[in-house]
Amino acid sequence: MPLVPMRQILDEAAKGGYGVGAFNVNNMEQIQAIMEAANETNSPVIIQASRGALKYSRMIYLKKLMEAAVEEFPHIPVAMHLDHGNSLETLKKAIDLGFTSVMMDGSLAEDGKTPNSYEQNVAITLAAVEMAHPLGITVEGELGCLGGIEDGHGANLKDDDLNAHLTDPDQAADFVAKTGIDALAVAIGTSHGAYKSGRKDPKTGEVLPPKLAMERIHEIHRRMPNCHMVMHGSSSVPKELVDIINQYGGKMPGTYGIPLEQIQDGIRHGVRKINVDTDSRLAMTGAVRKFLFENPSKFDPRDWLGPAREAAKKVYIERMIAFGQAGHAGDYKPMTLDDMKKIYASAKK
Ligand SMILES: [Zn+2]
Repeated sequence: MPLVPMRQILDEAAKGGYGVGAFNVNNMEQIQAIMEAANETNSPVIIQASRGALKYSRMIYLKKLMEAAVEEFPHIPVAMHLDHGNSLETLKKAIDLGFTSVMMDGSLAEDGKTPNSYEQNVAITLAAVEMAHPLGITVEGELGCLGGIEDGHGANLKDDDLNAHLTDPDQAADFVAKTGIDALAVAIGTSHGAYKSGRKDPKTGEVLPPKLAMERIHEIHRRMPNCHMVMHGSSSVPKELVDIINQYGGKMPGTYGIPLEQIQDGIRHGVRKINVDTDSRLAMTGAVRKFLFENPSKFDPRDWLGPAREAAKKVYIERMIAFGQAGHAGDYKPMTLDDMKKIYASAKK
C-alpha cells in the first residue's frame, strides 16, 4: 500500500469518532516501533517529521525508510506528514519527497519564532492550500500560538503571553473558510516538549500542570462540527518514564504533560490528530540510560537501540489504544493522491 492522504485518515476518524496519533520520527528505530505498534493494534497511523528531522535524516534516508515501512505492513494506512512547515519552499521539498500531508504553520513567521498577524497567516496558509490540494496533498494550518520550542521552532510564549495567543473560536471559523485547510491546529495552552508549564504556585513555588482551555475546542466543534482539529504538544509525560531517566543519572525536574483524559475529551469534540513526540523520546532515553547503566561493559549499539525501540513501541501501543484508532486499520479502502485530487477539484467547482 502506498502512503495515503492524511485527509482520508482524518475523515475516517471523524466517522468512527476516534483520534489518531501523529508520531514524530527521525530514524529507523522510531519508524519501526510505530509500524510494529500499528500492526499489533491494527491501527491507521500518521507519521510526521519536522524540519529538524528532515535535516537530521538528510531527507533521502527518511523517504526510503518510509517506503520500507509501507512495504512491510501493506495493510496499515499510513500518512506521512510535515510538522510545522515554515515556508512554501519547505512544503514543496516535503511533497517532492513523497509526503502526503503538510503543515503550513503560518501562525509564526518564516523564522519559526515571531508571531505573524492574522492576515499574514491567512495569506500564507491559503497559498499552501492552493499549492498542495491540486496535488492531492492534505494541509494542516495553525491559528494561535503554542508555547515551548520544538526543534528550534516555536514562539516560546510563557503564561500571560500564551493566554493572549490562544485560538479564538470566532476567528477559527473565518480562518477555515478563507483558507480551505483540511485540519486546524488549535492553541489551547499546550506547549511543545517536556516542560509544558510556565506556571508556579505563588505560595510554594512548585511547578504546576499546564492549564488547558478545553472550552475553546468545545466551542469550535459546536460551530464547525466537520472541522478536524489537531492538538499539538500532547505528550502525557508519564511520571514513570521521567523517573527511569532520573533514576539512571538524568536530571529532569518539574515535568508535566497533558493528561489522557483531556485528550479524550478533545477527541469527543472534534480533535482527530494528536501530536506526540516527547513521550517516545522519554521512553527511548530511559531505556538507553538504564541499559548502559546496568551493562557498563556492553558496546554494541544494537544492545541499547533494541530496548529503546521496544520502549517506544510500548508508548505508541498505549496511545493508539487510548486515542481509539486501534482496530480501525481495515475499515476502509485507502485512497491515492490522485483520488484525493479529484475530490478537491470537484469541491472547488
Ligand atoms: Zn507542534
